Amino acid sequence: MAAFSFTREKINEGELRKQLQDPAAGGYASFEGWVRNHNEGLPVRHLEYEAFEPLAIKEGERIVAEAIKRFGIEHAACVHRIGDLAIGEMAVWVGVSARHRAEAFQACRYIIDEVKHRVPIWKKEHYENGDSGWVNCERCAAPTTGDVDHSRHPHSHEHHSPALAATHAHLGAPVPDYSRQMALKEVGAAGQAKLRASRVLVVGCGGLGVPVISYLAGAGIGRLGLVDSDSLEPSNLHRQTMYALADVGKLKAELAAERVRALNPDVDVRPYTTRLDALNAPDLIAQHDLVIDCTDNFSTKFLLNDYCVRLGKPVVFASVYQYEGQLQIVQPGSACLRCVWPEATRDGIVGNCSEAGVLGPVPGIFGGLQAFEAMKLLLDLPGQLKDELLVLDLLTLSTSRVRTKRASACPEHAISRAVAAQASTAPVELEFDTLDQAHDAGFDIVDIREPRELQQTPTPSTHARHLPMAQLLHGQPPFRPTRKTVLLCATGKRSFAATQELRDRGIADVYSLRGGVKALQARLFS
Ligand SMILES: [Zn+2]
Repeated sequence: MAAFSFTREKINEGELRKQLQDPAAGGYASFEGWVRNHNEGLPVRHLEYEAFEPLAIKEGERIVAEAIKRFGIEHAACVHRIGDLAIGEMAVWVGVSARHRAEAFQACRYIIDEVKHRVPIWKKEHYENGDSGWVNCERCAAPTTGDVDHSRHPHSHEHHSPALAATHAHLGAPVPDYSRQMALKEVGAAGQAKLRASRVLVVGCGGLGVPVISYLAGAGIGRLGLVDSDSLEPSNLHRQTMYALADVGKLKAELAAERVRALNPDVDVRPYTTRLDALNAPDLIAQHDLVIDCTDNFSTKFLLNDYCVRLGKPVVFASVYQYEGQLQIVQPGSACLRCVWPEATRDGIVGNCSEAGVLGPVPGIFGGLQAFEAMKLLLDLPGQLKDELLVLDLLTLSTSRVRTKRASACPEHAISRAVAAQASTAPVELEFDTLDQAHDAGFDIVDIREPRELQQTPTPSTHARHLPMAQLLHGQPPFRPTRKTVLLCATGKRSFAATQELRDRGIADVYSLRGGVKALQARLFS
């Protein structure tokens, strides 16, 4: 039987239970969630469930697999109803068979809790007069009232009926409500699930970034990465209206992240208070589905262009100059910035806001357009800007669309430039708080100390390989050319020398861990 499934028919728990029977199992536990006839004193007449099935089934299957692995149970399954449900009908069923009853209970509890939290399912309660609107079931599952446990997992098991769940949403702190955009037939539950599953990187938290960030946060994008190394200046505020005068001097990426959390706690927002460069760009871009360029300098735009072409990620560009601006979307197969500007424009040829002057709404409008084009891409709406450059003059309110043509050498020139940029600017030394952090950032870790050193102080990570320095530098080092590698030794001196030696031999993506094992330990105990 399927580990997780949806049905529009009545759930037949007897039939499902039979399928979990196993002579090796001594225990069986099941949970049933029913539609209740009242909520906050309001009589509920019936209930609707909707889900974006491809995504929801994937997540549901993942949860059941996790439970099987985690609790060592024999079999488990979950079935959720969708469509219109009457009072008293079963909305969700979970069944678990296990060797012993303890695992059966625990796994059953785990599955229903995680399903309520993670599977994109929406619910609409119909009352005597009107309805609740579409409510994300994850929000209903999280207790928000003061007298209920605030941990991530809801507690009272048998109370976990859809009707009670909604009570939390109604009584507690207000929760994000996407009903106004979900009412569009092009969006609906499926579109909302797509937005929720999306990861968007916004580079630049200034005049263009502010509207982009606000609208995407409001729309319920799952994850927003915000890159900006600048601090807020008083002269920014006429166009960067998300910030406050009292915030002057603070880092914009962090200020923006704070605003996003206040606007929509559903969004997983991650500020990066760093300048995008050839070293951090590939990872940051790779971790997101879509990139929005909200910078005002050409070197970053071209850097983004090259890496996005190389990694096959769409990127929405905008730039403004006094009273006009332009919009271009680069995506796999389309023309890129270098196709349009073969002789890469250097910074300083066209002034940025501080030199040329700008009225606040100009970047506001173009940022709004970027946010909208981003949502068109994520929701797969018609009319996407493709193979065209949109130029809009706000003084005359005239628009023109310039056809862009993909150069035959497009992917190659982007790739070679990206590689060249990376090799020339990559520092030899890198710093990480832990080796797991390096591993998570996609680095292969090689400990080049001698075996006796490792006996005294083992490598503080399970992800590291051991290869003493002499062996490493003898002949061809066994590096995978597509991977980045970080070397470490006791204090960072030998790894520094080895990195330089390997770079000289033409291996670009190798780095030395600054301070070595000693620095890692110092951080651990500080
Ligand atoms: Zn190109």
